[in-house]
Amino acid sequence: MEIYTGIIMQKVIAEKDLVNLRRRIHSEPELSAAEYKTVDILLGFLSKHKPQEIIKKVGGQSLITVFNSFNEGPCILFRVELDALPIAEENSFSYRSKNTGIAHLCGHDGHMATLLGLSALLSENRIKKGKVALLFQSAEETGAGAKQVLNSHELKELNPDYIFSFHNVPGFGKANIIIKDGVFAFASKALTIKLFGKSSHASDENAGINPAFAMSRIILKLNDERNNLGSSVSVIYANLGNKSFGTNASSAEIGITLRNKSDEKLVEFSNKIELLISDICKEEGLIFDFNYSEEFPSLVNDKECNKIIAKAADNVDVPLVNIDNAFRWSEDFAYFTKEYKAAMFGIGAGENHEPLHSSTYDFPDEILNDSVRVLFEIVKDFDMN
Ligand SMILES: [Zn+2]
Ligand SMILES: [Zn+2]
Repeated sequence: MEIYTGIIMQKVIAEKDLVNLRRRIHSEPELSAAEYKTVDILLGFLSKHKPQEIIKKVGGQSLITVFNSFNEGPCILFRVELDALPIAEENSFSYRSKNTGIAHLCGHDGHMATLLGLSALLSENRIKKGKVALLFQSAEETGAGAKQVLNSHELKELNPDYIFSFHNVPGFGKANIIIKDGVFAFASKALTIKLFGKSSHASDENAGINPAFAMSRIILKLNDERNNLGSSVSVIYANLGNKSFGTNASSAEIGITLRNKSDEKLVEFSNKIELLISDICKEEGLIFDFNYSEEFPSLVNDKECNKIIAKAADNVDVPLVNIDNAFRWSEDFAYFTKEYKAAMFGIGAGENHEPLHSSTYDFPDEILNDSVRVLFEIVKDFDMN
């Protein structure tokens, strides 16, 4: 089977070549902000397809290539992610991760391969108006990469009129296109809570202040708040004391993630959580410290972009699914939606496909072909050929 351009029906890249490319990227995963080898693999492919511009190291490790007609017209940008996760892969197939403790378990390998497929189509079918930019964004998983690209002079100069992104989504039929107007993915932030008590000899526990009890109370209290105000809170880790049996524990650290579909409600919720924790710490006589990181705003889709995506799905003849509720996960593409006309859509990875970030996750190669075609139909909607 080959990838065709739809109406033009021109054979451009064999599906097996795209699959091999995806698997090669899968086997060499790299962590957020350290995607050096990944960028090399991409450049090896992209340079053959002769975009007019290749811009390296945009706001860090991100890469942008531009197909430029040098004529008036809109600038359309497609964005995918470069990074893998700090999780050990438990697959046994030949293209499993070569890098210990790191794996492409969010399907970013498949997103990159899709954009490479689009670059092959754009190379064969040169646009005559405007520009099409392909952004391979670093450090999505930590929430750092989008902001760095948005602050870069390269993106400001490009000043895209429309930005599109997509994510593979397990639980939906293969290559179904999933859209939603308004909030598409939740806002979230990580909160690190540090508790400081007082150490003492283990035989004289009353002389110390052990944070174990406050820690237990905080975790139980967070459990009560799990579904408050449409918010959610998950305990990510909890550490207490050291393995030193003669000493009463004196410090603890708890890491939690807070979520809400509204940026404002998330602030309200985190203020409430801070208050609950500080009350417990005061009662237990502990000093405490809060630190926020990995903050993602809510991802709000543009209606006009969604119409274009829906039309593209129709042209490719893949099912379109309009979802009622936003996804509870977060995406740093949200930052793009705050500043530009932009939308993210989902591509179904299969109804029974494993969940994202699971240790045996693997992007389904069967959806590559349709994914490329949907992106190309989006370009065609702008009448640039
Ligand atoms: Zn992820
Ligand atoms: Zn992802």
